[in-house]
Amino acid sequence: MKTTRTITRAFCVELQQELSIVAARREYFSQELPRARFSFLCSSEPCRASGVKITGVRYDVKPQEHLTFVAAHYRANPNYEHHPDCEWVDPEVTLPAADETQAESELRRVKRKLDDYIDVFDPTVKERPKQTATAGKADTKPPESAKDPSSSTDILKAKQDKQNRTSNLERLVDSFRQAQASLSKEELALLTLRVPGLGEVSLRAYFRHIKFAQLNDDRRVLYGGGLVERYGIGFKFKFFDRLQGKLVTLYVSPAQMQAYRSSRYLSELLSHADEVRFFTVFALGTLVASPSGKSVSVEIEDLRHLAIVLGPARDGADPAKPVLES
Ligand SMILES: [Zn+2]
Repeated sequence: MKTTRTITRAFCVELQQELSIVAARREYFSQELPRARFSFLCSSEPCRASGVKITGVRYDVKPQEHLTFVAAHYRANPNYEHHPDCEWVDPEVTLPAADETQAESELRRVKRKLDDYIDVFDPTVKERPKQTATAGKADTKPPESAKDPSSSTDILKAKQDKQNRTSNLERLVDSFRQAQASLSKEELALLTLRVPGLGEVSLRAYFRHIKFAQLNDDRRVLYGGGLVERYGIGFKFKFFDRLQGKLVTLYVSPAQMQAYRSSRYLSELLSHADEVRFFTVFALGTLVASPSGKSVSVEIEDLRHLAIVLGPARDGADPAKPVLES
């Protein structure tokens, strides 16, 4: 059968685990050079057993701001048929429910424009990095897939639970960036996000540009453009925009980087500092005023609460943005 739902996870043959396309991109860029591309199979057991391939698109391209934004995503391979029990096959998903209101149908239409729509984001960091050999896996596998859907009732249950959940901030950031780039203002305003402990919030409002941030409001993803200074393998990010006239920075110590499973990926992104006009940082952290009161820092509890996107290339013609350096 053909898939009807948006494929948001696949089984990576090389890594022998199931992961989102954003996690696949992170693993791809964490490899030593020369990097090898991955092959993916369908995440559903019966499909995987019969070798049903899935295509990974653009996971070998670093997250960067472009005039035309194309998100990394999974795509069904047209040469393969999926098992009827496959989690991505759901004949009902294309049909509107009988009692669907106009607002619900509009929301469904908007969600289908996105490659990876997130319903629930759980920022809770459950395991400390490097605590156990498999600690990092929490990053690559959403909680619901930890259950083994071996019986058909489990598969049925999984199909009924059509919510996309993740605890991966970078995945949420990709989804938000695609929504910003491809939806109208009105469409973007329809999207909501459920965050345990915070409830249901508008997706747009969950992301707060640093210039609109407030010192006591720390339950939002703060973001903004800026430049990076390296301190060994650590770094300090300085936002361009000021907060109440004060400089805002985000410091990651060499020790924090050393303890982080994906530090090679972050270093790889930051290594392009000379080629891009700026970086955009997304952080789920707390704003803390410096003792002198002259600056503000964004403090993050865990590096999993940080996502970095490359700015446009320095040579790229983008007249909308000022060139930082002559
Ligand atoms: Zn399948």
